Amino acid sequence: MMHQMRAEYGVGGPPDGVRLWHMVRGAEQVAMCGRELEAGAPVREAVDWGKTPELCCHTCGAYVLRESPYLGAEHQ
Ligand SMILES: [Zn+2]
Repeated sequence: MMHQMRAEYGVGGPPDGVRLWHMVRGAEQVAMCGRELEAGAPVREAVDWGKTPELCCHTCGAYVLRESPYLGAEHQ
């Protein structure tokens, strides 16, 4: 299953920059933790999980490790 990182903006929207990175399945706009994300929010390759200066959503991280063990292995 393909995953993609998608950004959640700060309270002020895009001008506030990225607050948190979530993980979505395919091109969905709803994160694995259930959070709805903006259609125009930045995306990143799933392999960048944990490598961004911004924080990653812990709930999404737990789901990803369960669905894609190989992805977790790349971070060890
Ligand atoms: Zn999340």
